[in-house]
Amino acid sequence: MNTQLSRRLFLAGATVAAGASALPRTVFAQAAAPAAPAGPFALPQLGYAFNALEPHIDAMTMEIHSQRHHGAFITNLNNFAKDHGVLAKGSIPKLLAEWQQLPEAIRVGAKNSLGGHANHTMFWQIMTPGGAKAPEGDLKAAIDRDLGGFDKLKADFNGAGGRVFGSGWVFVTVAKDGKLAIVAKPNQDTPLMDGQMVLFGNDVWEHAYYLKYQNRRADYLANWWNVANWSKIGERYAAAKAGKLEV
Ligand code: MN
Repeated sequence: MNTQLSRRLFLAGATVAAGASALPRTVFAQAAAPAAPAGPFALPQLGYAFNALEPHIDAMTMEIHSQRHHGAFITNLNNFAKDHGVLAKGSIPKLLAEWQQLPEAIRVGAKNSLGGHANHTMFWQIMTPGGAKAPEGDLKAAIDRDLGGFDKLKADFNGAGGRVFGSGWVFVTVAKDGKLAIVAKPNQDTPLMDGQMVLFGNDVWEHAYYLKYQNRRADYLANWWNVANWSKIGERYAAAKAGKLEV
């Protein structure tokens, strides 16, 4: 890997790790205008406007989070893919489940960026200004059975999200038999690395909430349920039981 490429990857990674607000303006500006290399990975569309989740998540957070933070993972993956065609082969869940077999030169970086890409792709899908406001049908029954009901799910999920030290995620995983569990992960790690499926999750990196909530992660976690898309999460539950859920 040449020095210039290493530096670009370092800067893109630093933006994600440190959060935009803490960085010198020059670094921020560089990350804000990525060269968008062609490659097998592409940034997904949100399907709603940046301001659609206000007042719970503000427009600037949504724009920076989706375009720059998620965008940096796409840039990194396309750069890695230039020299490592394995990244263009196989599904993202399979690559993550077998990440320790990735080429050593890119192993940790690719794991982090694949995890970041998978986590954020899921995250944009499962939020909406509309849709069902509470679990329904089979999913509601599974939440009652495995997680003690919707109110207990929210309390336990918020508790697990609050206990993540530093940066990470809180997820509800779903097994092929439909069984649900709450799992927290550090950094951009994902239950996909353990061969599990993700029903939904919330991002508790500071970049997900700091502009509006500053250090009040608990308030962000509590308000986030207002934008959870239970129609989509119900579709994901059905897909998981059919063995068709990807990221
Ligand atoms: Mn994020």
